[in-house]
Amino acid sequence: MPLPRTRHATLDDVTAASYAPAMACIFCKIVGGEIAAEVVAKEPRVTAFLDVQPLADGHVLVVPAAHVACIEELEPADADALFRVVARLAGPVRKAVGAAGTTVGVNNGEATGQTIPHVHVHIVPRWPDDGAGSIHTIFPRGERRPLADVGAAIRRAKGG
Ligand code: 5GP
Ligand code: ZN
Repeated sequence: MPLPRTRHATLDDVTAASYAPAMACIFCKIVGGEIAAEVVAKEPRVTAFLDVQPLADGHVLVVPAAHVACIEELEPADADALFRVVARLAGPVRKAVGAAGTTVGVNNGEATGQTIPHVHVHIVPRWPDDGAGSIHTIFPRGERRPLADVGAAIRRAKGG
């Protein structure tokens, strides 16, 4: 039986006019210093600050200065700088709160539950038995297409 096909959000959807422009964006205002935040790292291309409603003590958001909604839209230099800061902060964040690990994640597009349309990487400290699951726990189990088909489709989509 063929699997039901659902329409997935496209880049055009996530950058649609309904998405907040930079002027109204809370994260742009934090990057620009117009709105206060507990900043833990600041570079020309990247700012990191504490989430105002932390999922755990030490929950950090790492954001590019560039106002783009999803990671596909990042310029390579912004993407590089963003992940460098994530990698550099993961250890200090963990150490500062005595965590055993961190879950690092991005809600990438409105359909994923992203509430602020400005790219942000969550770094959330974790402890054994903290009651939260792994990334795998957010997805229901289900039938999937053959890996070879999906792999070929992705290689085609990226142009080889
Ligand atoms: P998302 O659901 O878009 O991946 O995550 C957005 C995050 O931004 C949420 O965890 C939320 O608590 C955080 N957030 C929303 N508004 C503010 C704010 O004004 N300041 C700070 N520091 N965090 C915010
Ligand atoms: Zn913004």
